[in-house]
Amino acid sequence: MVERAHTFAQGNTGRAAAGFRDLFSSDVNFRLSHSSIDFYNHVQKDLKHDMGMFYTGYLLLLEESGMDDPALEKLMKKTRARIIENDDLDGTSYFNLNPISDDARLMNAKPVGGAFMGENCGIIEPDLVSRFYHDELEKMGAEFHFDTEVRSLSLEPVSPLDFPGEPFLWQKKKIGKIITDKGEMSADNYVFATDVWTTKLLDPLGIDSHIRPKKRQIFRAGGPEVERMLNDSCFNDSGMFPFTILPGTGIYIRPAPGEKAFRVSVADELGRNFSFTENPEPEDDFYNYNVRPTLQEYLPTFRTSKLIGGWAGHYSYNTIDMHPYIFRELNLTVATGTSGSGVMKADADGRVAASLFAGREKVRLYDGSTIGSSDLGISGRKVERERFVI
Ligand SMILES: Cc1cc2nc3c(=O)[nH]c(=O)nc-3n(C[C@H](O)[C@H](O)[C@H](O)COP(=O)(O)OP(=O)(O)OC[C@H]3O[C@@H](n4cnc5c(N)ncnc54)[C@H](O)[C@@H]3O)c2cc1C
Repeated sequence: MVERAHTFAQGNTGRAAAGFRDLFSSDVNFRLSHSSIDFYNHVQKDLKHDMGMFYTGYLLLLEESGMDDPALEKLMKKTRARIIENDDLDGTSYFNLNPISDDARLMNAKPVGGAFMGENCGIIEPDLVSRFYHDELEKMGAEFHFDTEVRSLSLEPVSPLDFPGEPFLWQKKKIGKIITDKGEMSADNYVFATDVWTTKLLDPLGIDSHIRPKKRQIFRAGGPEVERMLNDSCFNDSGMFPFTILPGTGIYIRPAPGEKAFRVSVADELGRNFSFTENPEPEDDFYNYNVRPTLQEYLPTFRTSKLIGGWAGHYSYNTIDMHPYIFRELNLTVATGTSGSGVMKADADGRVAASLFAGREKVRLYDGSTIGSSDLGISGRKVERERFVI
């Protein structure tokens, strides 16, 4: 295992909002997340390895028109989820369900028509999840090379002729070695789980990773009133406020009791360019002028909150159908394109990658469901476009 950072979970895994949900409109995304959640729960409950999992629920506040979405009905048949009426939301006194101020009109903040609660959803600690896999791999004898950066991959002929200019067009090829800042390494097979960095590594070889990076930011909002709200477990018994998503813009809040704050974020689309920088920074102005005004309309408690920090990373978007890409090219397996929900699907994604590597047609996920090993590949891809990207 080769990783350029000094330890695990330093990439976007460590920058996630760190929520998990199985509320997806596409059946494949549902299976990937549902099964991974089951596995993480098994690790935490049965194997007693803390994953920092709490079933706080995902509370989607919806406009009147959103309540008729047929995907909600379908989800209620597949997982633990329910509709919550406005009267019940009102009872908590946290929500302004009918924003009618001039500001609200200006911001196009529409009245809430009801809510959808995903109960098989909540929060998790990605570094603890990563630690579990790290420790298990170590027990299996895997070697970890941290602080080792892959600079390039070497394309080589399977049967070399030792002639300058190889590999020629007509030669069968393989990835012969990887060139790192610590020297060369070679293996029979390679797996690249480099998400947003995959393009940079594979472009020189002419292998398309099919992803577009987009900056995503997390802001931490704290203060005494927000802290009180954090520990009010209305609608669930986790002892915490649910992960809540606002109507319209999709602004969300994720309880982070350890930080005495909510993590606040939004996946802004139009106007946010596709680009990549190594160390993206959160933009306070984006929070103050784009996020906070709408947030405090629907959740007035945030009027007294303070911005106490934040960070930024990137989603590696598959812009066509918003599902991961897991494919094989030569002796290389690639897992990328997590589209903003890679932690909550990671266990299943790993099983798909392993199954592809083993040449199996189908992969059996932890929860017993199956999908085709190449359903997330390039050719033979079998997924519908995902509508619930948060
Ligand atoms: C702001 C934000 C909020 C998010 N919220 C959520 C959420 O709530 N829930 C959720 O499930 N997902 C969320 N995501 C998405 C999630 O973080 C990603 O989908 C997931 O972390 C991807 O995991 P990964 O292992 O594929 O990639 P990464 O964690 O990015 O790992 C890639 C690794 O490759 C290493 N690497 C790259 N290039 C090289 C090289 N040349 N040599 C050696 N090593 C290299 C990197 O150092 C890194 O460790 C969020 C993402 C962001 C940015």
